[in-house]
Amino acid sequence: MSGFDVQQFRSQFTFFQLQPDWVYLDNAATMHKPKAVTDAVQRFYQQQNSNVHRGAHQLSQRATTEFEQARDIVASFINAKHRHEIIFTSGATAALNQIAFGLMHTVLQPGDRILLTQLEHHANIVPWQLHCQRHGIHIDVVPLNSSLQLDLAAYQQLLLQKPKVVSFSHVSNVLGHIQPVQQMVAMAKAAGAITVIDGAQGVVYQQPDMQQLDCDFYVFSGHKIYGPTGTGVLYGKTALLEQLTPLLAGGEMIEQVSFVNTTFNKLPFRLEAGTPNIAGVIGLGAALQWIQQYNNNDLIQHKSLLLKAFFSGLAQIKGVDILSMPVHNAGIVALNVDSEHPSDVAAMLDQQQVAVRSGQHCAMPLFSYLARPGAVRCAFAAYNTLDDVNRCLLALEQAVEILT
Ligand code: PLP
Repeated sequence: MSGFDVQQFRSQFTFFQLQPDWVYLDNAATMHKPKAVTDAVQRFYQQQNSNVHRGAHQLSQRATTEFEQARDIVASFINAKHRHEIIFTSGATAALNQIAFGLMHTVLQPGDRILLTQLEHHANIVPWQLHCQRHGIHIDVVPLNSSLQLDLAAYQQLLLQKPKVVSFSHVSNVLGHIQPVQQMVAMAKAAGAITVIDGAQGVVYQQPDMQQLDCDFYVFSGHKIYGPTGTGVLYGKTALLEQLTPLLAGGEMIEQVSFVNTTFNKLPFRLEAGTPNIAGVIGLGAALQWIQQYNNNDLIQHKSLLLKAFFSGLAQIKGVDILSMPVHNAGIVALNVDSEHPSDVAAMLDQQQVAVRSGQHCAMPLFSYLARPGAVRCAFAAYNTLDDVNRCLLALEQAVEILT
């Protein structure tokens, strides 16, 4: 029996107190923030507001301490071996751009191959493509099987071509399908590849353990795990982080600068040029500390109850075409209504104060494969309730009635 009390959990989000009429199911785009996070950000601006790592005064030293404490919280949350393996970025996109740029100038050589998958978010395609085209590096793509899971037999075959880098999502941001990341990392490592995991959707589902996963890089965005926007994490193993060419250069990341030469700072600062998002990082630390008071299995169980109710309700509505599978699903459902355009369906839900996202969800190659113009995406979070599920189903029923 789960001890999870959804009303207690939900009561910690000011948004739901101020906007009780909304059913918010756009959680894969961004999540709401608990008071613990908004308070931490507000307190920083109201009581400290100093720059980090450079001030001679106590306020700056205190800001530095809190900022660096957030690094410790993240390192412990994902069980990184060393705190300097946590690089703060503005989000998963910035982190993936840093990895692609950084490897392209050191590890990857013309003629090399990298391996991506059919269901990647554009943030895990375009940064590679930008450099691959210029440097003569080939991109291969792992296809999907009939259950819209990655085809592991095809993956194994593609690994025989010895890609230097394999980069894939932990959880699909469109379908919600959870990838067998532990197995995929082991297979890639056996083939000698560097492994990159896009954990933008995965980190909120399951606290990832870097030492157990043993991937080389793992990235995520703070705002998809209850933290502030403009924050993100690039985790990397020390030896590989040392090999990344910095994407951003400027203050903080240097040791010595002259007009002839520059030497770089040590990790993590080498990859954190300029003034960071100090309040945001402190808020991210607060988010991760806050969520750890809950048992993650309880949150998973709660979301799977919502998902089960949603899938069985959808089965009763004529004309709904569900793209997502209910198994190995982190709580995201992509669907269409007959041949109606997804944005028309989303607009009808919006009129009933049900917030979902529609379109191609920054995953055009996946939609080309699915041969669909897009989909409506309902993404559940631990603060959603069965009432939210029912209201969304009702709104969908009405949309079907009016549109078809
Ligand atoms: N990767 C995945 C799987 C995502 O879902 C997203 C955002 O939706 C991103 C990367 C990019 O995240 P951000 O826009 O926060 O940088």
